[in-house]
Amino acid sequence: MQTHDCGKLNSDKEAKLSDLELETLFSFTAEEAAAYRKSAGSNSPYAKGSRDELRAGFGGPLPEHGVSNRTAIEALVRNAGPGLVGTVSPAAFGWVMGGSHPAGVAADWLTSAWGQNAGIFQTTPASAVAEEVAASWLLDLLGLPSEASVGFTTGATMAGFTCLAAARGEILRRYGWDIDADGLAQSPRFPIFLSEEAHTTIYAALRYLGFGRRGLIAVKSDEDGRMDASDLEAKIRSAPGPGLVIAQAGHINSGAMDDFSRICALAQENNSWVHVDGAFGLWARASGVNERRNLCKGADQADSWSVDGHKWLQVPYDCGYAIVRDADAHQRAMSITASYLNRDSEDGRIPSAYVPELSRRARGFATWSIIKALGRTGVAELVDGACDTAYEIAESLAAVSGIEIIHKVFLNQIALSFDDDTMTQNVIEVLQEQGKWFVKGAVWKGRNVLRLSFISAPMTDSQKRELAEDIIAAYKSLTA
Ligand SMILES: *Cc1c(COP(=O)(O)O)cnc(C)c1O
Repeated sequence: MQTHDCGKLNSDKEAKLSDLELETLFSFTAEEAAAYRKSAGSNSPYAKGSRDELRAGFGGPLPEHGVSNRTAIEALVRNAGPGLVGTVSPAAFGWVMGGSHPAGVAADWLTSAWGQNAGIFQTTPASAVAEEVAASWLLDLLGLPSEASVGFTTGATMAGFTCLAAARGEILRRYGWDIDADGLAQSPRFPIFLSEEAHTTIYAALRYLGFGRRGLIAVKSDEDGRMDASDLEAKIRSAPGPGLVIAQAGHINSGAMDDFSRICALAQENNSWVHVDGAFGLWARASGVNERRNLCKGADQADSWSVDGHKWLQVPYDCGYAIVRDADAHQRAMSITASYLNRDSEDGRIPSAYVPELSRRARGFATWSIIKALGRTGVAELVDGACDTAYEIAESLAAVSGIEIIHKVFLNQIALSFDDDTMTQNVIEVLQEQGKWFVKGAVWKGRNVLRLSFISAPMTDSQKRELAEDIIAAYKSLTA
């Protein structure tokens, strides 16, 4: 630990007081955080406060004068409490959201306390090196090419944006076009193929990059939400590349995986770039079970991958990874040039050369700490535990006549229907009114579904049984 000469400061009464305030502020905050996490499993995962109540708590005119830091944080705790959703509890399945692993939370506190700006190597060598190491661990865990580069983004949306920006630049180079010099407006058009079941954030990323919906080539999908590779083949043949193919690891409703080996082989034929949106599903590659890893077979042949940290790896929000095989294409798309900003090779890793931001939080510390805490086997347990839970619950539910799992179960996601759309909606409402389990509905292929995502805190055996029993009881109460 570094020490500074504080003799002058220590003789200063005000500084002493503020040392004490700092200590009590931080320990009070840590106590609050621990109390919240300890009770998360026993409280309802639903926010209890209405918007009006939350506004009354947080609201009021701009304070003319300040209060102590402690008073401000006490007010934050009081006002936020009623509006928090139990994302970290083992009772929340409504969305695909991770549970903020304690090692990551603690690392994030230090990240904030250290106040590092993770933009360039010189502003925080520790963060640059932690990212470098965490990046190589991630590639190892996910079984991706070790030469790929990794940018630490806010989530999979920006990871997708970053990867697709690298793809756009590189594909246009294949047409002899320099996007950095000449921009997009007059550039050659190239075909972009994506499944009609692509995640909505991929369309957003494409839009940010100048590609509107009408210019995209929609590829059919099968009943589980997988891209129909034969349809892709036909469409690639009639729209010669080089182009961009966007595949998916982990369909939001079914967890289904595209056929990456076949898609990558097809794309290679006409020199196209394959991007895999693997926000949560790519983590199947970190499973300890062969068949599960094989679901994602061939995904390593793609050119780029967007993955979330804050879903299956349980990194606290916000965290995602933009992974690009061609590190030059990645840096060309993202690096900011200035006299004081060097490229990677000259002065260690330049974290900003892989993401859209310059100044940002030292996001790599939390990822590094969680992987350090879990190890390869711990990450595999996270993945396999969630998948086993999904299988077990799907099995109990599917045994009841009238309840249908409307897809093959691949990973951690289940989409259910009951009798018909109205019944499904009613079951969802009964469960929501009970307030014990956080569930949400969705519409898939024109049907109402109850979607369960097992990806946050692990469930005990009795919790799994209870969840299945409660869903069945809710349904039975409506059919009686
Ligand atoms: C969650 C998700 C995204 C978007 O990720 P964010 O982290 O919310 O930005 C993209 N694709 C898929 C398949 C997802 O599940």
